[in-house]
Order: sequence, then C-alpha cells, then structure tokens
Amino acid sequence: MRKRLIVSAAAGALALLLTVPASAAQGGPGAAGIGDTYYPNAGNGGYNVSHYDIRLKYQPATDDLEGTATILATTTQDLTRFNLDFVLGVKEVLVNGRAAAFAATGESELEITPARPLAKGSPVTVVVRYADKPGAVERGGFSAWLRTPDGGVAANEPESAPWWFPSNDHPTDKATFDVSVLVPDGTQAISNGLLTGQSSRAGWTRYNWRQTKPQATYLATLAIGKFDIRTDTTPGGLPVVTAYSKDLGANDGAARASVERTGELVDWLSGYFGAYPFDSIGGYVPNVTTGYALETQTQIFYSPAQFSRGSNTAVVVHELAHQWYGDSVSVQRWSDIWLNEGFARYAQWLWSEHEDEGTAQELADYVYSSYPADNAFWSVKPGDPGPDHQFAGAVYDRGAVAIQALRNAVGDETFFRILKGWPTERRYGNASIPQFQAYAERISGKPLGELFHTWLFTDSKPALSSAGVPAAPSAGAGAPALAQTAGAQPREPKSWKKIQETNSVHDQGH
Ligand SMILES: [Zn+2]
Repeated sequence: MRKRLIVSAAAGALALLLTVPASAAQGGPGAAGIGDTYYPNAGNGGYNVSHYDIRLKYQPATDDLEGTATILATTTQDLTRFNLDFVLGVKEVLVNGRAAAFAATGESELEITPARPLAKGSPVTVVVRYADKPGAVERGGFSAWLRTPDGGVAANEPESAPWWFPSNDHPTDKATFDVSVLVPDGTQAISNGLLTGQSSRAGWTRYNWRQTKPQATYLATLAIGKFDIRTDTTPGGLPVVTAYSKDLGANDGAARASVERTGELVDWLSGYFGAYPFDSIGGYVPNVTTGYALETQTQIFYSPAQFSRGSNTAVVVHELAHQWYGDSVSVQRWSDIWLNEGFARYAQWLWSEHEDEGTAQELADYVYSSYPADNAFWSVKPGDPGPDHQFAGAVYDRGAVAIQALRNAVGDETFFRILKGWPTERRYGNASIPQFQAYAERISGKPLGELFHTWLFTDSKPALSSAGVPAAPSAGAGAPALAQTAGAQPREPKSWKKIQETNSVHDQGH
C-alpha cells in the first residue's frame, strides 16, 4: 500500500502546459499524457486499448527479458503519431502489420509513427518486440522491476507496467490481458487471473495467465521465481490461486496463515461490498526485500515483511477491499486516491469490529485524538493530497475517519447501502470523489457538501463542534460526527497496531 512514486508533477507546471490532452484535436500526434495533473506523462492521448497480449521469455540467472506485446486499440482522433509508456529497449514496432518508426523520448515514452496515418474511430493492432534487463533500467534512480534471488517481480503504484510491457499506463484505460511467460523448467511464472495452461519443452516451461475482466495497467503484475502454487475454490465456487516463494524462511508460516484465508475473507467482504467483481482471487508472496503490499487485480502482491511479526489478516482484508474499491471501480484521476485507500482502510476497521478488537467509531476517535492540531498529519487533504503525499497516512486514516463521519451522518442502514451500491453501480469503471459525493447524497437524500469539504478538503484539524457535520439520526440533535468528547483520551483499540503495520512497513533502500 505504501509505494514508491517515480514520476511526480512536482517537476513543474510547464510540463503540465505542454501535455494538455489532444483528444479534441483534429489530428496530428497523440498527447504524451492522458491529462492527469499529478502525473502529466501518465497514459497517452488519442486511443483506447481493449486488450493486451503479452508473450515473454525470462532467464532469472541473467535478468534477460524478451517480449512481444500485441495491443488492440481504437483511435479516438486522427493520428499521425501516438505514444506508449515504456522504458525497455525496443527492437521492432508494427502498426496494422506494417513496420512503424519509433523513438524513445522523455522519461518513459515510446513514440510511434505508423507508416500510414490512422483515422479516428478505427481499430489498430500494435505489435512491439523488445528485449532488455529490466532490473538494470532505472528512471530517477529507481527500477520498478524487483530482482529476487530466483527471479523478478513487477508490482508497484502508480507505475510498474513500463518495466515489463508497453501500455497506455493510466487507470482510465482498462483492458483484458493474456500473459504468457516462458521460464526455465523448475521456475514458475505468476500473473493476474487464472492459469489457463502450462507446458514444458526443451528445458523451458510456458505459463499462460488470463484476466478476462477490465484491468488497469498498474494492477497488472508479473512474478517469476520458484513458487509453491496452490489452487482451490471458495464455498461459493470462486477459484482461488495462492503462491508462496519456496524461500520465505521464518515468514513462511505466517504468510500462509494469512493469505490462505483469502477465500473466507473475500466472502466476508462481499457481505459489505456486494458480489465479487472478478473471476478469481488470490495472492502471492515472493522473496522480495520490499515492505509493501499491493492490490494487483485478483492476484495480490504481499511483501514477506508484512508477515514478519506473525500472521496479518488486516493486510489481506485491505488488499481484498481494493478489488471493489480501486480495481473494479478505479480512480478517474490519481487525486481521487481516497476512493481507494480510505475505503480499504475502513474495511480494516470493519474487520476490527468483526473481530471484537475495536469498533470503527473507536478507531476514528483514536485517530482524531492521536494527532494534535499542529501535527502535519492534518495538513494533508485526503481528497487532494498532491502527488508527493498520495500515500500519506492521512489519506488512509483521516480518509477512514471521513467515512465514519459519513456513516454517522446518514445512519447505518443508508451507509451500508451506499457502501454496497457504489461498487455495483460503477463496476469496471472509473469515478471521482465528487461523483461519490453525489451518489451518497442521492441515496441518503441529504446534502453532504460540508461534510466532504471538512473531512477531505481542508488542510487543518476539523473542530468537532464547528465542523458542521450532521448528527447521526440515532444520536441526539447536535451530536458530533465522532464520539470524541473534549478532554477524554480514548484507549488504543486492540487492532490499532496491526492495522498501522500494514502501511508502516517501509520499503528498504528508499
Ligand atoms: Zn491500499
């Protein structure tokens, strides 16, 4: 959940001015960015991708990756040129079967000039052949390809795709995926969705993975190494795929005792969020030295460090919650990150309630009382934290307090209707915070502008008495959003430390 940011808009406003999306333009080159102010070069203009077919060969001993990506897209404007986001070395590009000119530009742009211009609204097939050592390719001193003793892993936010396949790397352009990976016999390859085939020949084994539901590029993952892969189904029939590096050492038992509860926990979350949106679920624990976990779609990435203090169901609940809040319903812009992290943190609070380790209200009170008004915690606006604070603690904890304030304002029955209805109404799409507010207002019949402004869009500690937060219907008139009363110091809920651990395990080396 706490991930390395590699490209930020802090580089300056000039980049912003130069990358206004050209989607409305009459033709010419597609924009180098999709128009996200946090990451001006993320994604590209001029087309939408529907499918990625990625065929790879990887040699763990040398970190040599060879690939052929076939991308199916449709143009949204006349195009003389367009970009993909990619950092590896390219050997050849074909557009609709014809050789195309290409050049690496900027930090991570692959600029492609087709032999013939592309008309707006036409289907396009792009083939990119490439070869490189992804662990050696750095941008800003950073490689998203995590080398392990027996292979490598791609799992990062907001960017990791450019280190293993060329793409339109923004959450608003989702696509289905086929990922086929050739590795030496005895090594396994893991990606999203279901393992649909596995075959060996001449010392190499091919693994075919398929993601049949729309998936954002940053939620695509690849892991190569020596894994123990397990398959099962939930009582409801949902396939479960889990995988553990054979080299987890002392963390092995705690990792399995946590991740093997995936089926049970996904069923439990369905009670709050509605029908599970995808065709499989699972998680994998590679032998990386990073500390974070990431909600890679249907195949969740967990660093072993998440289990270095024993089993941790809180992190599993968090990443599973993202399958609804983040993966199925994705941010419209990266500034909408509260729609992912606030709700995934709140799911951990619901799990704490369920486990009798502290109610969501007690956790909200504890967050509120733990940070004095002059603490920098309150200077981050969860509703627009800025690229440098996108994964700040406030996005999670103050973000979850905001959700508790909403619960108190609309009452439990309406609140849980919103919690379940939103991912159903917005399934497989993208959404913004104002759209969520409008939805909550529609379902509750209450104006919520002041509540959202107070808890998400102010850079100071909201005063409970003057926050203007509507009282819970069940509480007396004038009751505050939170149970916190002046001067009282709430006890630390039992679940507090475990929940904090899920985002306090920092990356090593950063
Ligand atoms: Zn998260």
